[in-house]
Amino acid sequence: MNDTFVPFDKLVDEIDKPKASGRPADKLVYKVSRQCYWVNVDFEKIVRFRCLGNGCRMTWAAPRNKTRVLKHAGQCENIAPALRREVNHCLGNASLSSKIEEDEVVIAQAQQSESSPRASTSLSSSKEIIFTKIGREQQARKISLTVVNLICGAGLAVSIAKYDEWKAFFQVVAPYYTPMSSSTIEDQHIPAEAARIRNIQIDELKKLYNLTVSFDGGSTRFPQSVELIHITTPEREVYFVEGHEASDKSHTAEFIRDIILDVSSNSMSFKYLFICFAGVGADWSRPFLAHFI
Ligand SMILES: [Zn+2]
Repeated sequence: MNDTFVPFDKLVDEIDKPKASGRPADKLVYKVSRQCYWVNVDFEKIVRFRCLGNGCRMTWAAPRNKTRVLKHAGQCENIAPALRREVNHCLGNASLSSKIEEDEVVIAQAQQSESSPRASTSLSSSKEIIFTKIGREQQARKISLTVVNLICGAGLAVSIAKYDEWKAFFQVVAPYYTPMSSSTIEDQHIPAEAARIRNIQIDELKKLYNLTVSFDGGSTRFPQSVELIHITTPEREVYFVEGHEASDKSHTAEFIRDIILDVSSNSMSFKYLFICFAGVGADWSRPFLAHFI
């Protein structure tokens, strides 16, 4: 959780290293965040964790929440594109969709061994795996994914998960299923699904040539200024690839250039042929184009 009252300039970094035996995702958290502290007026040592993105002032309270740290790091424009790509790869692999696919592989293997003539003794145990343990876990993940898709697709407030009526619904239709908390949906599953979709998009786009990258400004009702970046394929399929919140920044040629370079480097080896500007003059775009020529 971001705390605007943290005196960022008074934070002191501490030695902060992952355990050698830690999982890759845990080690990744240490690459993008660091433990630090500050001392308040009562001389109390307040432990915080800060984003390691260059110039980023995001901090979190202790204990370090891996889910929130990675959620932020996957979108933090101050983190190096390669590292951000690593975070999104990690998030995507941990998504419900990816886990469901892994479950299906395990179940298919169990079914295959069941049908093997040499596997007569494992028949009952395989069935037990399919219809109880993994089967039940996969069913729970499918329900969770359906909930995530429903909330995102219908534009529902994540806080719906806090309602007793919501929990009562699942007690009736799926008594074995434990409904997710709103924070789990918001901080873990939605960012993970978004990262997975983005990874798939990037993999597809990297196979193509003659891509067109376009960007246009917009605003939200808050209001915030947002730069939207799309990539269009030669078959005129449009992919939304980035949405940069840029309310406090001047939309200069250099600013736009950096966004596109960031998209390009984050996505790796896109083959652009066209770059579209919206509503700008030649004087504005000249220094931008000079960077590429
Ligand atoms: Zn950051």
